[in-house]
Amino acid sequence: MPVLRWRRGGVAPLLREPVLNLRPDGGVASSAAAVDWPQPPGAGLRPGILFETCANPQCRSGWLRLWRSRSGPVFEGGWCCSAECTAAIIASAVRRELDARGAAPENHRHRLPLGLTMLEQGWITNRQLRQALEAQKAAGGGRLGQWLVRHEGVSEKLVTRALGIQWSCPVLDMEIHDGSGLTALLPRLFVDAFGALPLRVAAGRILYLGFEERLDPALALAVERMTGLRVESGMVEESLFRPAHTRMLGARFPAVELIETASEAALVHALMKAVERARPVASRLVRVHDCLWLRMWLRRPASPLPKLDEIQDLIASVGGH
Ligand SMILES: [Zn+2]
Repeated sequence: MPVLRWRRGGVAPLLREPVLNLRPDGGVASSAAAVDWPQPPGAGLRPGILFETCANPQCRSGWLRLWRSRSGPVFEGGWCCSAECTAAIIASAVRRELDARGAAPENHRHRLPLGLTMLEQGWITNRQLRQALEAQKAAGGGRLGQWLVRHEGVSEKLVTRALGIQWSCPVLDMEIHDGSGLTALLPRLFVDAFGALPLRVAAGRILYLGFEERLDPALALAVERMTGLRVESGMVEESLFRPAHTRMLGARFPAVELIETASEAALVHALMKAVERARPVASRLVRVHDCLWLRMWLRRPASPLPKLDEIQDLIASVGGH
């Protein structure tokens, strides 16, 4: 026998029996809550609540309004009863993400230079290193690894292994790569701007993320928080990485809106508008370097890889805030 539960004002006693999970619009959501889909952290409906409680702790809506209220949107696991409450909880999420700047693993740790790493391993000679450095200097740039491969005949595999040692990460293989099947994982802008290449999802829980020169721990953490997948970053040989990266950038990605705002208040307003318009069943905000990434799930995905038309991304620049 289902027991009705009311969390605001204590209308009914909180009982321990299984409860029917009704949406504010009257729909039964218990089956949806039971579906085992990999949710972004904190997303989705909380079972055992008759009327979803507004996620805004400062919500001023009376219980009658909540009773009659609308379905969605859901932001970071909390249902928002009104545009004002959506704005309030987004404002605190924006503050949380901006306050965390500097605390994230941007990873400025000193690393042994690539040339010295290779020298130490006995993979190049002093002469090869000197010549490659001179060529790099004369040309006014270029990556040392490329100079070693192209002008000193050093194996590309060894350069990639040395990068792995430098970054304490594995070298990832990419025998089979279907980038077009992985575009739902992160926006094209991040694949392009941060030189990341999603390689595959293993066992529905681990995402292998490839890089060609340096890891991006901040991006990896953001993708982990957004997708709920564990991200394993590693190096990929340049000659394999480049064509796969170009192919992936040519594939179709989820819809994305890019915004630039003059103030934090304007940013919160723009994010609130997007969430109110899309009415997502789940949404989440994470920071990636100087961007805030809002992802909205319009339907519950059946796997960690949602269909492209089931999600909408919004990327906001926060550089000036
Ligand atoms: Zn509210």
